[in-house]
Formats: sequence, structure tokens, C-alpha cells
Amino acid sequence: MLIYFNGKFVKKEMARVSVFDHGLLYGDGVFEGIRSYNCLVFKLKEHIDRLYASAQGISLKIPMNKQQMQKAVIDTLKANRLKDAYIRLVVTRGEGDLGLDPRNCVKPTIFIITDKIALYPQELYKKGLTIVTVPTRRNIPEAINPQIKSLNYLNNILGKIEAINAGVPEAIMLDQSGFVTECTGDNIFMIKNKELMTPPAYAGILNGITRSCVLDLAPQSGLKPKECMMTRFDLFNADEVFLTGSAAEIIPVVKMDSRLIADGKVGPYTLKLIENFRKLTKKEGARYAL
Ligand code: PMP
Repeated sequence: MLIYFNGKFVKKEMARVSVFDHGLLYGDGVFEGIRSYNCLVFKLKEHIDRLYASAQGISLKIPMNKQQMQKAVIDTLKANRLKDAYIRLVVTRGEGDLGLDPRNCVKPTIFIITDKIALYPQELYKKGLTIVTVPTRRNIPEAINPQIKSLNYLNNILGKIEAINAGVPEAIMLDQSGFVTECTGDNIFMIKNKELMTPPAYAGILNGITRSCVLDLAPQSGLKPKECMMTRFDLFNADEVFLTGSAAEIIPVVKMDSRLIADGKVGPYTLKLIENFRKLTKKEGARYAL
């Protein structure tokens, strides 16, 4: 496996960051999780735009432009001869000293890992997930804005630990007022009376790229898209619930906090959205040849 590391390709064993890297010492950095499907990097431009927006959010100047970054992603896939992959693109503040001051980090560390993805087991896409709401609240935007996809994922990891302790793979995180935000690594949607609803970006969520695709697919799937605040009670009484993410794609939820969602089966609109999303992954993105 070859890793893109600061402009060069190195073997996995040789790809090492310094213990003084502020990405490691302080979670000071940003990242992206991207997919490629049959030599098409899905929504690459949108992922690169979000990476640069996250970097701007933490005042991190990435020392290459967006075109160069897109090329680096594609070159890494080619170097590893991967048609289908999960791509992890990371930019840290770089190596500094033991103080917080980012000005002591002269050069950002940039690396790209391309690998196969372990999605949820295929049967869960047919049967649906069981999830719970966890006590850890999502970061408030005024502290660490969830719209910044930063290396500081401890908030999500605390939620994930609570999900695992409850015996489920994902969990809903609420905001400070008790409104639903998102899951630890996925956005959340509900369908009720042909309306497709998800919390707005300002609700303190990551503005997911899969989320945007699904909102765009609503009309052709027979649904009216709507971004609105929602409560656990709304989800308990939804017709259908599902999660979205680059790794998970669209995964149905059939049970939440011990309540079955509708009849506890994967709903027809979720299946339609999954079908339409699959079609999109065949056409929207940056193509490459091996
Ligand atoms: N929310 C969080 C917290 C995430 O980490 C992710 C990405 N795994 C998502 C939502 C989904 O975002 P995207 O569709 O852009 O992958």
C-alpha cells in the first residue's frame, strides 16, 4: 500500500508523522472521507471544497491549491491501482513544539490513504439498524463547530463508546436544547407524510455531502425535502428513518430507543433513495483511468 505523504508516495510502513505534530498532540487539523466507485471519485470537488472550508475555519493555510489536491487524490488511487476505495485525506497543522501556538508549526502535514472500506454488513442494509440516543451532547457550534471536519473527533468518539456500551453500532446525539443533530459519524433523516426531513446545517451538524445528495434526490423519489429541527418524539413517530455518510451511504434505521419505527421494516422511500443514490455514484465525480 502506498501512502501520499507530503508530496511523495511512501510505503505504509514508512508513512510516519512526528510525535510533535499538532494533529496528534492537539487534534489540530482537518480531514475528509471520500469514496471512489469504479474509477469515479464521487463528488471529489465537493469534498475538496469542504476540506478547504474546514481549513479556513481553523485558520490553516493548505500549501497547495484545490486542483493540486484533487490530482493528489487521483494519483494516490492510481498508484494503488484501486477502482473502488475509501479515501482518507488529512491535513494537520504540522510539526511544532509542545505549546499550543500554531505559529510554531511551519509546514502542514498532508497525507492521503486509499484503502478498501468495511461498510456495515450487507444484511443491515436490508434489515435496518437499531440505534439509541446517547447522553453525550454534540459539540455546540460556538465551541467547536461541527461544520468543521476537524481531527478533534473526541465528541463523536464519546458518543460512539456509549452506543457500543448499549450494544448498537450508531447513536443519535442531541444538541444542548435536546434537538436531534446527527449520529456519531452519519447524518440523520426522517420521512413523514412524504416529507423528507433532516436538521439544517446550522443545527450543529457536519454538512454531509451524502446528505446534500439525498436532499437533491428527494423530488425524483416522490418526496418533498425540508431542513428543520426535530426531536426524538418526531423520530419515534416517523414513517421511515435512515442515516447517510460517505462510508455508510444510505442505511435504514428500524428501531430507536426501544421503539420500532413504523412497522420495523425498511420503508419503500428509503429503498427508492438507495436506488437513486446508487445511480448517482455511477455519474457524479472525477473520473480516472488505471
Ligand atoms: N456527520 C459526521 C459527524 C461525520 O463524521 C460524517 C462523515 N463520516 C457525516 C456526518 C457524513 O458526511 P458525508 O456524507 O460528507 O460523508
